[in-house]
Amino acid sequence: MSLVIVGSVAFDSIETPRRRVERVLGGSAVYASMAACYQTPVRLIGVAGEDFTSEYIDLIKMENIDITGLEIVEEGKTFFWSGRYGDNPNERETVVTELNVFENFRPALPGGWEKSEWLFLANIDPELQLDLLNQFKGEPFVGCDTMNFWIEGKPGVLSKVLQRVNLLFINDSEARELSRETDLIRAARTILKMGPDIVVVKKGEHGAFMMTEDFLFISPAYPVENLLDPTGAGDSFAGGVFGFLASNGDINEKNLRRSMIYGTVLASFTCEDFSVGSIRNINLDMIKERFNRIVDYVKIDKEET
Ligand code: AMP
Repeated sequence: MSLVIVGSVAFDSIETPRRRVERVLGGSAVYASMAACYQTPVRLIGVAGEDFTSEYIDLIKMENIDITGLEIVEEGKTFFWSGRYGDNPNERETVVTELNVFENFRPALPGGWEKSEWLFLANIDPELQLDLLNQFKGEPFVGCDTMNFWIEGKPGVLSKVLQRVNLLFINDSEARELSRETDLIRAARTILKMGPDIVVVKKGEHGAFMMTEDFLFISPAYPVENLLDPTGAGDSFAGGVFGFLASNGDINEKNLRRSMIYGTVLASFTCEDFSVGSIRNINLDMIKERFNRIVDYVKIDKEET
């Protein structure tokens, strides 16, 4: 089933202890769409500037990604983000965020997309997330991601978005900031009271957990041996979760648990190269193989009691 993804389309400059890359393709919508498209058709909504030349557009165009909703603004400059990592890949410093074409962007749902059943609001200004949500005619299953930049900058509108979200993805430090709780389990419980039915807390190389009123599911991270750049891992995680859920169609505990492992797998591929170098060049068999490896890594018999 079709999945609409709105988020940033970006040029990223990234510094890691091993290498520095300048103005490579990035953005939350780009990573999430590429991760999801192996399992379901994706309809991408975003904006870029005149500097977003055909070589970048060709990179985004994949078999299962419809880019009708990607607006190119004449004389505009593409969103730019720059980040720096030290030896701990879980800690990153944002050096620059230039909103550029996002400052005046109003997302518009192309005709025929209003009744899509799945919507993922990737990390982007919550005002734009709300705007897009309001354009839907049906009642899509809504996922959302956000970050400290918006938790601190637009808490009021973010809280309105959260009231309409089914599944929220958030990383550990942002969960603490949003809930004002230091204990992550308490933080997740507090966030559930803000609106979402399901919350996924991502902990980088320490895995992720999913909490609902009914269950808690804990996933390890996939053991990546050659981590080059974790940028986009969170977006790819969410794309992997939504790609599986949308392809399957049913939201139930079994599928939600499985979706967490798909998210984990897609995030692991993104970390193995800069930009979309890895995530763009995989296939469903490779994804399933890693899925099964994780299942083997955590398999254990119950004790008799
Ligand atoms: P992640 O590593 O999953 O948190 O995502 C990193 C991606 O998010 C990069 O490609 C950035 O271009 C994009 N990004 C960073 N800051 C923002 C922001 N404030 N709004 C939207 N996208 C952002």
